[in-house]
Amino acid sequence: MKAVRQLSTSSRILANYGFIGLGQMGQHMARHIYNQLEPNDSLYVHDVSRDATETFVNTVTSASPDRKDCLKALYNISDFVTGVNAQLDYIITMVPEGRHVKGVVQQLIETYQQGAPSTTKTTILDSSTIDIPTSIEVHNYVKQQIPEFDFIDTPVSGGVAGARKGTLSFMLSRPTDESISPSLNTLLKKMGKNIFPCGANHGAGLAAKLSNNYLLAVTNLAVADSFRLAHSFGLDLVKYSKLVAVSTGKCWAAVDNCPIPGVYPAEYRLPVDDGYNGGFITKLTKKDLVLATDAAKFNDRFLFMGDVSRHWYEKACEREDIASRDLAVLYEWLGDMEQQADGTIVDKKDV
Ligand code: NAD
Repeated sequence: MKAVRQLSTSSRILANYGFIGLGQMGQHMARHIYNQLEPNDSLYVHDVSRDATETFVNTVTSASPDRKDCLKALYNISDFVTGVNAQLDYIITMVPEGRHVKGVVQQLIETYQQGAPSTTKTTILDSSTIDIPTSIEVHNYVKQQIPEFDFIDTPVSGGVAGARKGTLSFMLSRPTDESISPSLNTLLKKMGKNIFPCGANHGAGLAAKLSNNYLLAVTNLAVADSFRLAHSFGLDLVKYSKLVAVSTGKCWAAVDNCPIPGVYPAEYRLPVDDGYNGGFITKLTKKDLVLATDAAKFNDRFLFMGDVSRHWYEKACEREDIASRDLAVLYEWLGDMEQQADGTIVDKKDV
């Protein structure tokens, strides 16, 4: 690794990045950062799976060997403090749940506290989708332990496809565009297209993310129901899909992620045309729905569709073949459901 941190003619280049969590999303986000590193930038990466870390490094350095000296794999969280050439400006976390974020941040802060007092600010950006209370707790912890540091919720929307293409939308707890620093803007723009400041209070980014994903979960269920209704009437579902696409029922789940095969050209690569594989899986939709409905309860806000949609997603996820495929598979799953004489609805595959 090169010595880092230098002055440009106009402003100081902040270019020491850390990335933790190289899974479905993180590997692509970190790849975009790597591919846009300037000669004096550095990127340190880590995943709890050593295999994932090594695969990432091998993949990106084989594709673009010219920057390989700027990239280093780390095998412990404490290495982000003790194994780097200079204190990191930004560390991004992209891990499954709140408990993982909490564990990683605690280890980072404790290691920083064991060293010399920090003169540079490190900002931790959490792009995972986690519960708001844990995110607020971690934010308060960071500010109490090292007030110069920051911890910002920066969840994303756009899925694996958006991460792969570098077109993610970021939602931040920041009040205005102007309150997002140029260095933060530069970093996020390496991975995404849109940056939305969602409010001044910590957790506003997650609040926006969970509100949107609640809408996604509910509309996806309604789309599956509507297409099953059309099916029961004997309608041609390809024609019905095209009609919905220009009618008042139009929404992302009905059009951009249409659950009916063969409606759109193969180059659109819709999950439905690959056996509902390759999209945003039902298990993760359920996870976000649970986070959103729990957050609503925490806020004393009732949700009309909360309990009913949560019930059906929980039921759907009892079947691994449904849980692990794209959320549009709910259309297929509803086809396996049958109403009994007493009104109860059962899954024929469970009976
Ligand atoms: P993933 O399970 O594919 O990847 C998570 C990675 O984090 C894994 O490689 C895992 O080994 C690693 N990890 C777990 N604990 C760790 C720890 N303590 N330290 C270091 N690494 C650790 O998940 P994903 O699909 O990449 O999603 C990550 C987050 O982003 C989740 O919170 C998810 O809800 C959210 N998200 C996912 C999508 C999506 O479409 N997959 C879209 C938007 C947001």
